[in-house]
Amino acid sequence: MQETSSDRVIVFDTTLRDGEQAPGASMDLDQKLNVARALQALAVDVMEAGFPAASPGDFEAVFAIAREIEGPTVCALARANRQDIDAVTEALRPAQRRRCHVFLATSPIHREFKLGLSPSEVVRRAVDGVRYARGSFEDVEYSAEDAARTEPDFLCEVVERCIDAGATTINIPDTVGYALPSQFAGLIAHLRRRVRGIDHVVLSVHCHNDLGVAVANTLAAVEAGARQVECTVNGIGERAGNCSLEEVVMALRTRTDHFHLRTGVRTQQLCNASGVVASASGFVVARNKAVVGRNAFAHEAGIHQHGVMSNALTYEIMRPEDVGCESTQLILGKHSGRHLVRHRLEKLGYRLDDAQLERAFVEVKKLADRKKELLDGDLQSVVARVLRAAGDASEARP
Ligand code: MN
Repeated sequence: MQETSSDRVIVFDTTLRDGEQAPGASMDLDQKLNVARALQALAVDVMEAGFPAASPGDFEAVFAIAREIEGPTVCALARANRQDIDAVTEALRPAQRRRCHVFLATSPIHREFKLGLSPSEVVRRAVDGVRYARGSFEDVEYSAEDAARTEPDFLCEVVERCIDAGATTINIPDTVGYALPSQFAGLIAHLRRRVRGIDHVVLSVHCHNDLGVAVANTLAAVEAGARQVECTVNGIGERAGNCSLEEVVMALRTRTDHFHLRTGVRTQQLCNASGVVASASGFVVARNKAVVGRNAFAHEAGIHQHGVMSNALTYEIMRPEDVGCESTQLILGKHSGRHLVRHRLEKLGYRLDDAQLERAFVEVKKLADRKKELLDGDLQSVVARVLRAAGDASEARP
């Protein structure tokens, strides 16, 4: 069982389950094992390895991960029925630490159109599932699928009954990415006020990014008392994806002055995990992606570059080394200024006088209008041209 002290946020990664469910993100066994190893290096508290009842391949992957991983709890998903839960029990047999994750939808639209169940039947099935899972597991999570669109009072009833049945973590998913930060925080606060026994379990959230607010909703829920965050590396997942692990972890860490909370994640491993997941899933990371994008620590504008050269904190709130990114990058482009041109030329070993530097700068700007990013080779040819022109000019003098 994880630590549940009030300042510790449990990081539950579902890259291998929800992330892998994203259209086009399917991974084979070797790719899943590579992701699982990267998650172990990150020291997530829980990794959801898959959904064993979904396919023989999923079962096999969960089993292989359970056999290899040391440290994080390995979790697997089950619908609230005995066959699914038995499949989880078998697949997680070799795990050092294991969790069964049982889910059943609670919202009116899912009850009516997907399950065809009355509210009381939903309660009964959820309770049966949790109780059955507790027969084989100490650590049982119950998720009220589509909780964000469930009547709050009915949600309280289901959650309370599942706690009575032995659930140790209660997860409140915004399955369809419909919630907004203040409203979602209100729902978490409502559950904490109304549900008997809620203080004896870990309250978790699982947010989707359909409106682009998965991380914001997750952070708002944490402020309201949630102490497990479900997330994926690079934010991959169904449709617009899940709450991004690197963003939520770095928000908690960078703004510890605000949250006064901590996670167990080794943040120096974030860029590595991002690369492993991008390559396994085939989902390219956007250049402007927060924390792990190529531009997260890159600057081109002259005013910013000048600031960063004298103190990186002028335009960076995180240090690249804290997320395992190589270093701040100063991109030489058409928005750059003289400071960077001089700095880069000095690094290449050139010592130009002010007039030469000025001519080089003019040439750099002309070239940068045609080329997005200038490399060392471009600079060298600019300098060669400037020096040649200067030589010609002096020879030409009488
Ligand atoms: Mn999901």
